[in-house]
Amino acid sequence: MIAVAIDGPAGAGKSTIAKRVSGELGYIYVDTGAIYRTVALACIRSNTAIEDVQAVEALLPSLDIRLIFFNGEQHILLGDEDVSEAIRTENVSMAASRVSAIPSVRQYLLDLQRNFARNDNVIMDGRDIGTVVLPNAQVKIFLTASPQIRAKRRVLQLQEQGMEADYEKILYDIIQRDYNDTHRETAPLKAAENAIEVDTSSMTLEEVVQKITEIIKEQTL
Ligand code: C5P
Repeated sequence: MIAVAIDGPAGAGKSTIAKRVSGELGYIYVDTGAIYRTVALACIRSNTAIEDVQAVEALLPSLDIRLIFFNGEQHILLGDEDVSEAIRTENVSMAASRVSAIPSVRQYLLDLQRNFARNDNVIMDGRDIGTVVLPNAQVKIFLTASPQIRAKRRVLQLQEQGMEADYEKILYDIIQRDYNDTHRETAPLKAAENAIEVDTSSMTLEEVVQKITEIIKEQTL
């Protein structure tokens, strides 16, 4: 089995790129951020304070989180509900960043993530895939872009969906999440030693897709 790990900060384009490249190569795509977001959504809905680690830990075993692939798209289920859309709000983003700093939450989600790479070729994106979840992945990519570029892309994405977007607020949230993700004690965001770093700040989507596809083909020959 071939495993490709794509890590990097929020908004670097990991999921867009991973979706496209996995489609082209026929790999399954696993968006691990969606799993953390679903735990965060469950905390919000059950009024579980994320600072209350014991309460979050107590909630975990009751959560039935599943990933299903429908027409090649990943959907995430919480119980019987498809929460793929509900987990995309800014509110859930910030809560996911905080919940993911809890070591027992990370540990709990480890097997769930590793199981995806057992029977299929996968592209998995997240923050610690190359360092912790799949340290033996054949290909490791660390995707970055400046916070300003990432905020601009997010604004465009929201506007395309007909939503309001406040650049300053989005930039602030991105910087805050970068800080949380790189400074937590357990599995902080960092490039694996043997990861190939790709800065997408001045690249188009097509250029990034092409570059990543080339890297994967080269490394898995
Ligand atoms: O990738 P995405 O922005 O959807 O992830 C949401 C949050 O989940 C991130 O801010 C990060 O804190 C956390 N996360 C993580 N480890 C992963 C994937 C996501 O800590 N492998």
